[in-house]
Formats: sequence, C-alpha cells, structure tokens
Amino acid sequence: MGKASRDKRDIYYRKAKEEGWRARSAFKLLQIDEEFNIFEGVKHVVDLCAAPGSWSQVLSRKLYLPAKLSPDSKESDLPLIVAIDLQPMAPIEGVIQVQGDITNARTAEVVIRHFDGCKADLVVCDGAPDVTGLHDMDEFVQSQLILAGLTIVTHILKKGGKFIAKIFRGKDTSLLYCQLKLFFTDVTFAKPKSSRNSSIEAFAVCENYSPPEGFNEKDLHRLLEKVGSPSGGDDLDCSSGWLEGPNKVYIPFLACGDLSGYDSDRSYPLPKVAEGTYQSLDPIQPPIAPPYKRALEMKKASNHGIGDFDKLSLDP
Ligand code: SAM
Repeated sequence: MGKASRDKRDIYYRKAKEEGWRARSAFKLLQIDEEFNIFEGVKHVVDLCAAPGSWSQVLSRKLYLPAKLSPDSKESDLPLIVAIDLQPMAPIEGVIQVQGDITNARTAEVVIRHFDGCKADLVVCDGAPDVTGLHDMDEFVQSQLILAGLTIVTHILKKGGKFIAKIFRGKDTSLLYCQLKLFFTDVTFAKPKSSRNSSIEAFAVCENYSPPEGFNEKDLHRLLEKVGSPSGGDDLDCSSGWLEGPNKVYIPFLACGDLSGYDSDRSYPLPKVAEGTYQSLDPIQPPIAPPYKRALEMKKASNHGIGDFDKLSLDP
C-alpha cells in the first residue's frame, strides 16, 4: 500500500502526520483522556513500551510543555516523564528515555531510581509483542507485558494513581479484569475510536490504585495466581467468590473518543491542496532501530536488483 493510499484508508495515520505525532496511537491516548480525564493532577508518569514515542509526545504536550511555559514555573515543579522501550527512541522534550526490557527486574530498578523516592501518578503501557496471528499465543505474550507493567505499578504508583494498559480481548479477559480489580477500585475496558474494530486490542483503564491491605510487592504473582487459573473465564476460582452465581461480574466496556468523530475503519477522500493534487506527508519520526530494520534493508536491496540475500547476512 502506498503512502497516499494509506492516507485515504487510514484517517488517523494521515491526521497523525498533519498534527506532528510519531504514530497514530497518539489518538488512542487522547481519546482515553477525553473519556477518563486521566491527566488531571498528574505530575509523574511512566510510559512503558513507548517507542516510537507518540504517547510520550502526548505526555510532553499535555503535561511538560504547559508547565514549562507557565510564567511561574520552577525547574523543581516540572513534571517527570520516564519512557521505556526495547527500541531506542528519538528525543522528546521533557521525556527521560530508558532503553530496556520491561519484563526484566533491572529495567524496573532503573525506572524506580529515576523517581528517586517519589511515586508516579500515572503509568501507561501500550506494549505489544510482534503479533504471530496465533491468537492464544499473542494474548499470552501480551498478558506477560501487562504483568510486567503491573509489577512496576506495584513498586512505583502512588495510592489513588492510574494505570492504562493495552490488552488483547480474548477468553482470559475476565480473569485479567478480576486480577486488576484486586488493585484498583475502578477498572474499565475501553475501545478508543481510533482503534480499529477489526483489532482485538482494547485498553484497561484502572483508576484509584488501592492494593489489598498489607500487600507486599513480592507476593504479586502468588496473589494473581490465587485469583484464578488462566484456563478461561468460566472456571474462575476467585477466593472471595464475588465472580460466582448472581455475583458474576460484568466487565465495564466503553467506547471512547467523540463518537461522531473519525471512524478508523472507514476510507476518507484525500483533501485537495492549492494545485488540486494531494501531497502525502512523510512520517514525523520513523523508529530509529526497529527490529524489522534489517529486513527492510534486504527488501530494498533486492528491489534494486542486488538480489543477493547471502551478502546481507542477518548477523550484525
Ligand atoms: N505507545 C507507542 C507510541 O505511541 O509510539 C507505541 C508502542 S508499540 C505499539 C509497542 C512497543 O512495545 C514497541 O515499541 C516494542 O518495542 C515495545 N515492547 C514490546 N515488548 C517490550 C518489552 N518486553 N520491553 C519494552 N518494550 C517492549
């Protein structure tokens, strides 16, 4: 698909370039904010799985830049935004970047060190594995990222804080909901308008962090296991029994973003510029070292007739 054709078929892709966002995902966070007001009173944020950085841009534009431009702002009052990803990211004003794996305890320690004893008001996680198409497998790997996010949350989020995490809807969705409810009084699964209907992604919006009385971070895995076995929503073994019989829980599921706004599954005509032709814009900031970089180089080389894949060994 060419750039112009993608511009037509994906309105949020085009809008992202027009508004200076590195990825169309920016709109998902903005639409979640429209519904849940997630940035209110927020000064300290962790952005997990942040590359290429459109969520970090949202955080910078919504929190850091207004504080910096305020006439009575002091350096010590500026918001603290820490972003982590396996991939390197081009710099964003007001965002501290950490390159690392969020499932690795050492990465979590680096983040905690940046916070230097203070707690985060908000943790966001848009992490996604390279999707295989094997739905159970993708959902499992995705749940490992959420678990890693939740581990960081239990160390760094202040009581009353919020956690937004990408989820894949599947047969274990109720279990995940049940596990998140252990830590947050309000959990809603939200589908922003900019997230395609054909995509199984949604976002868990967890508000009011309140871990169980006497909770110790070391017990996280044991506690989550107690909630149920990951064998499906029908045999949840919730110790308190609140998922059983007439108390069976219904997961709040909410569409968010202006419902009369752009539909991510529709094609829109391209706007005409002065000369009557449409000029597609370049991406704002392509990823600097994505995992597929070598494959792209190889494809380009073969299109240019080099065609000798052996010379382009995958070894660095
Ligand atoms: N929120 C980002 C934005 O707005 O630009 C997009 C995030 S992208 C959908 C998913 C990201 O998850 C990728 O950049 C990938 O490198 C990252 N990721 C996947 N597994 C990870 C892990 N274990 N640790 C850190 N980052 C990870």
